[in-house]
Amino acid sequence: MNIHEYQAKELLQSFAVPVPAGGIAFNATQARQAAEEIGGSRWVVKAQIHAGGRGKAGGVKVVNSLDEVGKAADSLIGSRLVTHQTGPEGSLVQRVWVEQASQIRQEFYLGFVIDRASQRITVIASSEGGMDIEEVAKVSPEKIIKEVIDPAIGLRDFQCRKVATAIGLKGKLMPQAVKLMKAIYRCMRDKDVLQAEVNPLAVVGSADDEKLMVLDAKFNFDDNALYRQRTITEMRDLGEEDPKEVEASGHGLNYIALDGNIGCIVNGAGLAMASLDAITLHGGRPANFLDVGGGASPEKVTNACRIVLEDPNVKCILVNIFAGINRCDWIATGLIQAYESLKIKVPLIVRLAGTNVEEGRKILAESGLSFITAENLDTAAAKAVAIVKG
Ligand code: ADP
Ligand code: MG
Repeated sequence: MNIHEYQAKELLQSFAVPVPAGGIAFNATQARQAAEEIGGSRWVVKAQIHAGGRGKAGGVKVVNSLDEVGKAADSLIGSRLVTHQTGPEGSLVQRVWVEQASQIRQEFYLGFVIDRASQRITVIASSEGGMDIEEVAKVSPEKIIKEVIDPAIGLRDFQCRKVATAIGLKGKLMPQAVKLMKAIYRCMRDKDVLQAEVNPLAVVGSADDEKLMVLDAKFNFDDNALYRQRTITEMRDLGEEDPKEVEASGHGLNYIALDGNIGCIVNGAGLAMASLDAITLHGGRPANFLDVGGGASPEKVTNACRIVLEDPNVKCILVNIFAGINRCDWIATGLIQAYESLKIKVPLIVRLAGTNVEEGRKILAESGLSFITAENLDTAAAKAVAIVKG
């Protein structure tokens, strides 16, 4: 689960990490009010969407008067912001975060990720902040600093100093850097964060009063741990999530929307991935990933069909079941129910194998409905691709 920048900043503030004073606004009036409360004469109005690259896309506006705050909020709220992370359709901006503008002296990158190879939380830092870290990693990999944290003893001061020195922090900023890194690590551990990214971490203020401050933060949480993170789940913004994905999770289905036109209903995540591969191999594009899981009841299959068909791009559905705990006769019954109750008009290509396969095939054959059957995944994928290609 992802949260907005302002929510990440509020969370960091509760761990005593310095962030600019700010306020959230759903319209121009609230934005002006927030700016007035913050005080000063320079503010930044920032579109809140679950995607980065907002600065380059015009979603971060530095303004010098309350009128400009209102105007910036007006132009952002209700618009669709297209960044290199949103895809061409962009994301609808429903709120803006108004914050104090900082006098930036330098920008750094600071991230905390779980390194699956070492199975440990790893600090990633770079002096090349404010930019695309993926680009830095490609062009100048030597500018990416990594420090692995031993979970038994946690992040140590010397490790923080090592990272801070490597990115060029010194003097009064050193103790600030140590405190800040340890606080983010603590936040990550306590809140079941999978990935915490601060970009930029900035040195702000005048030459004789330099301070480290978090100017942007992106957090991603472990979905499997949300049951014990109530304050985090309350931050969920369903408006940022694909409604089909939200609905699917409510039915115990694992659905992820993709951009092709062949809908997929499969049991098991591995087989679902293989089905997407098979479609792609034959030159097609899957419209989604969908794992109905084990023990898929007819109702579950109907729900799966409905959710897949909510995507207007879907031109046919590939059903690929290798039943172990599942039973092919339940799947077949579910498909017939779905066909009738949803008045399905697109072709259904069905590949059944495993438990009760003969019964399943018989039910489909005797239904009188025009299912297209296939013996194996490869021919099923080939048939689906042939259909969408006309
Ligand atoms: P994104 O990563 O989505 O582009 P950021 O929050 O990182 O959005 O903002 C982009 C850039 O805008 C930052 O790199 C920084 O230079 C500037 N910026 C962001 N917040 C502030 C602020 N409070 N004061 C001054 N400049 C800011
Ligand atoms: Mg940023």
